[in-house]
Amino acid sequence: MILFYPGPSRTYDAIPDYVKDAAKTGVLSMNHRSAECMALVKDTIIELRTKLSIPASYTILFTSSATECWEIIAQSLIKDQSIHLYNGAFGKKWFDYTKALKPTALSDTFEVNQCLEPKALSYDRGDVICITQNETSNGTQVHNSIIWGIKKRNPNHLIAVDATSSLGGVELDFASADVWFASVQKCLGLPAGLGLLICSPKVIKRAEEVGDISHYNSLINQVRMIKKFQTTHTPNVLGIYLLYRVLKSVPKIEIIQNKIKRQASEYIKIINRIPSLDLYTNNKDVLSDTVITVKATERKIKRIKADAKKAGILLGEGYGSLNPTTFRIANFPAINQKEIKALKSFLEQIL
Ligand SMILES: *Cc1c(COP(=O)(O)O)cnc(C)c1O
Repeated sequence: MILFYPGPSRTYDAIPDYVKDAAKTGVLSMNHRSAECMALVKDTIIELRTKLSIPASYTILFTSSATECWEIIAQSLIKDQSIHLYNGAFGKKWFDYTKALKPTALSDTFEVNQCLEPKALSYDRGDVICITQNETSNGTQVHNSIIWGIKKRNPNHLIAVDATSSLGGVELDFASADVWFASVQKCLGLPAGLGLLICSPKVIKRAEEVGDISHYNSLINQVRMIKKFQTTHTPNVLGIYLLYRVLKSVPKIEIIQNKIKRQASEYIKIINRIPSLDLYTNNKDVLSDTVITVKATERKIKRIKADAKKAGILLGEGYGSLNPTTFRIANFPAINQKEIKALKSFLEQIL
């Protein structure tokens, strides 16, 4: 089966070899306080900065998932109130998780066909603005220029960005926000169980002002430990090792992005040519590059998913309430050209 699920998604072909190497070289039982592990963590951070163009001033932390990052932000960075801009299920989940910890959280929702207008988004309340850069559930994205605009109009807020299904696939302008996070089982093509939390100097300062130290994953504790290339708990050492090996093997993000954007526009062209299919959003300014979401009638969607399966292709299910009327195509870097060609041929014969 060729996997087009947008997470957990197809992993890189070399992963089984890397796991074998990990077993051979003692990574599987590596002590997380050992010099070897500290060197691995350090090298992985260097590789992340190099390949993804993460600024030297930003601190990179290892967590277990994007969901954990939602909670870390809620516990460690919100002073009074967060404001959640979203148009889909993951943005809403982030809002709900935050509300459970900080009940004052506010939501400011928008439509899937709507491009956010920064000039309408100056907030006099709240102190953290939460944006889902790539909404995996409906295939829309918030471009970097818009995140910049929101940051400029809200200089006293922290801007927090969920980039779970875009980090590793498209270039993110890290300077345009303060906190970025992702988990590795999407665009990074790795098995699940590891998250990344990337923090600007302003975030470290805020964490100190908030002063939360009551959780194992409190940001202050994590920042203190990562200075020694360690974590507060025993981390997913194998996950970190696999991330290191994958990063070593991939080109810089600009090059990956060119490929991903080209592929996205090819998928979009094909979808636009098929009368019975539509992109879930009709606004090309908000279309995701990494998760293509396609809508049709319930009958048609059922048929396409079944036919795809027969052809050896596993399309991404529609997410949540969109399940009966949409399917999704992960446009992630680990998917190879032969697989993409097979999907394109399959799509091209749909009437
Ligand atoms: C998948 C996803 C998450 C959740 O990731 P976990 O690793 O399961 O915590 C959060 N946000 C977005 C946008 C996602 O696509």
